Amino acid sequence: MKIKIEVFTLLVTLFFVQTAFAELSKLADNVYTYVDVKDASPAHSFAANAGIIIGRDGVMVVDTLISAKEGKRFLSDIRKITKKPIKYVINTHAHLDHAFGNSVFAKQGATVISHETERTTLATKGVEILNSVGNYGLKPEDMAGTKIVVPTMAFSEKLLIDLGDVEIQLIRFAPSHTAGSVVVYLPKHKLLFAGDILFTDFHPFLADGDFNGWSKTIDSLLAMDVERIIPGHGPLSSKKDLQEMQAYLTLFDTTARELVAQNMDAEAMTAELVKRLPKRTLAEWMIGYNLKARYLGKK
Ligand SMILES: [Zn+2]
Repeated sequence: MKIKIEVFTLLVTLFFVQTAFAELSKLADNVYTYVDVKDASPAHSFAANAGIIIGRDGVMVVDTLISAKEGKRFLSDIRKITKKPIKYVINTHAHLDHAFGNSVFAKQGATVISHETERTTLATKGVEILNSVGNYGLKPEDMAGTKIVVPTMAFSEKLLIDLGDVEIQLIRFAPSHTAGSVVVYLPKHKLLFAGDILFTDFHPFLADGDFNGWSKTIDSLLAMDVERIIPGHGPLSSKKDLQEMQAYLTLFDTTARELVAQNMDAEAMTAELVKRLPKRTLAEWMIGYNLKARYLGKK
């Protein structure tokens, strides 16, 4: 009997270990992130990464996930690491999986910061997007308690934040994944939060992208003194992944244009793109979405 109970306990434990959400990984003494998240379901923020930087005087949160529920999970993981006040939130961009958990941190007294165009996006379209999240596969219960919080501080090119003993640079090089996508750079750690400028192993979301500016932005990132990169989605990355992202964008654009010129139907074009694009294990459905949104005038 005792053995049976022990086996049962072991199975239950294994089940919870398997299904439990990943906790924040330590990248440095004062930097923790969700990275390499595997559950890409809508309710779990499409596996968006997010993180924190802890300084002498407080904490900066980088992206807030997709909902109040997800933001609260993030906050409780942060509180296992530090009790310091959360002074700032930076939204790398306004997409829901990076900014719709803002209210949880605003309630803690944090100042929410973004690029000025992303602030405008949240201010003018945030509520409309929140009201139509069903289009993204989200259920009302996933979004319970979620409120749009528009950043109260915005910048255009660069903003430096000093958390006491750690200097953080927020930089927008050019329009890329969105018009105001920014990176969060820690020069001392040679560490970069790239937001969705970098998708590693996931097919990227391209519908709001500016391919020229995106490629230029990647050139600028490649020239920086950076060793480790936290992508918007995917595992911990390096400059090699940025180069692959740049090549992916070019290949997608030239192939899609070529296929559109051949007047193929959408399904055949998607199949052809899947064949020609590099293999990525997650979000293959995105290829068809990107094609329709960017080249066939449908969203
Ligand atoms: Zn995005």
